[in-house]
Amino acid sequence: MRHLKMLFKLVYYSLLSLNFRPFRLKMALSNVEFKPYYQPIMCTKTGCVLGYEVLARWISNNDVILPDRFIHYIEKYGLLDALTSSLLEQAYEELGALSKQQWLSVNISPSMLESDFIYQYFKSKKFKYAERIKLEITERIPISDFTVINEQITALSKEGFEFSIDDFGEGYCDISYISKLNVNTIKLDKSLVLDICLNVKKQRILKAILALSKQLNLQVIGEGVEDKETAMLLTNIGVSMQQGFFYGKPSHNLLITENMNYQRC
Ligand code: C2E
Ligand code: CA
Ligand code: CA
Ligand code: CA
Repeated sequence: MRHLKMLFKLVYYSLLSLNFRPFRLKMALSNVEFKPYYQPIMCTKTGCVLGYEVLARWISNNDVILPDRFIHYIEKYGLLDALTSSLLEQAYEELGALSKQQWLSVNISPSMLESDFIYQYFKSKKFKYAERIKLEITERIPISDFTVINEQITALSKEGFEFSIDDFGEGYCDISYISKLNVNTIKLDKSLVLDICLNVKKQRILKAILALSKQLNLQVIGEGVEDKETAMLLTNIGVSMQQGFFYGKPSHNLLITENMNYQRC
């Protein structure tokens, strides 16, 4: 019985890894199997939705596959540009439905700025809705050349796009990035937020980050807000832009979210 179970597992995992071969990923891209899901970003002062983060989901045979399972392979096989443009094409259709002040946050990697891909993509759209798109610079490897990236950020900012540093306080995203990248927002990593009510040290770290952000005129978004206590603590120390399961899980439809601890306004 034990051997049978092991054999079953082996077959299951080898079938699963087949899914992540380049030809399968390319096929999934051309079949538009990667879908944008939307998670609300809230203002706790007004109770309104400020915007939504676009998060990739792979819909494969009715299974919803999360990015942590496929994004590594997408990057490895050089398909990140294709994934991002597929998501953007679909998300563009939603942009018109947003109210004027709302935005969509899109995850991009620094390499997409370095290669000019992002600029050329939006240029092909005549920079339409630029003021409604924020680009979250998501980092998985350290940035080597800040000059080129900042030139791209400056060019896109002139068209109306805004930029944030994602996952601030985690991994390679250290404090020096604030001084090196021309962004106007930082997004606190959820590892800083998740157990903050129980962790006085994290509260102090967060307060120091907030003081620094104020000095540098940076806006701060708190991510990973799962309960009311965290929402209140963050609001009280000055983080009123918040995102997390407490307000809504990522949803395939902008107007439908599982939790509804907010109004659309
Ligand atoms: P991220 O950009 O930091 O996105 C936030 C992640 O936190 C999302 O995971 C979201 O579902 C999750 N999250 C939101 N609220 C909560 C909460 O209250 N508690 C907890 N525990 N988690 C929460 P998801 O969608 O699985 O995405 C994981 C990562 O994959 C993203 O992290 C991002 O780095 C990457 N990713 C997703 N979509 C894209 C994409 O289109 N392009 C690129 N380059 N990366 C993407
Ligand atoms: Ca993000
Ligand atoms: Ca993050
Ligand atoms: Ca992340």
